[in-house]
Amino acid sequence: MTQFVIDPPTPASLPVRGSDARFPVRRVYCVGRNYAAHTIEMGGDPDREEPFFFQKNPDDLLTDGADFPYPDKSSDVHHEIEMSVALSKGGRDISLESALDHVWGYGVALDMTRRDLQAACKKAGRPWEIGKAFDRSAPASELVAASEIGHPADGAIWLKVNGEVRQQGDLNHMIWKVPEMIAYLSGLFTLAPGDIILSGTPAGVGPVARGDELEGHVDGIGELRCRVV
Ligand code: MN
Repeated sequence: MTQFVIDPPTPASLPVRGSDARFPVRRVYCVGRNYAAHTIEMGGDPDREEPFFFQKNPDDLLTDGADFPYPDKSSDVHHEIEMSVALSKGGRDISLESALDHVWGYGVALDMTRRDLQAACKKAGRPWEIGKAFDRSAPASELVAASEIGHPADGAIWLKVNGEVRQQGDLNHMIWKVPEMIAYLSGLFTLAPGDIILSGTPAGVGPVARGDELEGHVDGIGELRCRVV
């Protein structure tokens, strides 16, 4: 058995609906500008811009109903409600036709964003990590197995803040569908079991404040509740 010079970190993981077993997380990929209406609200042109990818860290996941602590170094933290896709199989150059065979299940997640820091990074041509991949920046629901619910390709996705609808869209508005994301990503990176993809957010992103109650929903998958503290 491998000896470590310090205790190895506990692997990040997500709860699974109806099970005591958890889903271990290896990497967290996120797709940007994957809903046309959100691309427009961020100042882009959905007909001319392709979606793109960035990563969060597995230990940025905030699970099991934990509160979201408003992070330091920002005064403009935004919510982005997204469907998450969890992979049970990996590989390189995965074909479109076989892509969904690599999916273990789905969940609801928030891509919390320090928008002011992200905007400064964009302006300076710097990487986005400080705006996107900060501690606890990815509140996530339990996962639901595709063997139970299939592969949702349409249905409402929304986020309420303090009971008021802020973001609303439909999974069938995604510019890149789930099989396309998996196929494309697997051309850039070797995907592996435990990888998660946050599939982009519909229009309506906006700031949160301490005390806000966030309630996210994706049809056929479930709910995510999170309090900003
Ligand atoms: Mn996002």
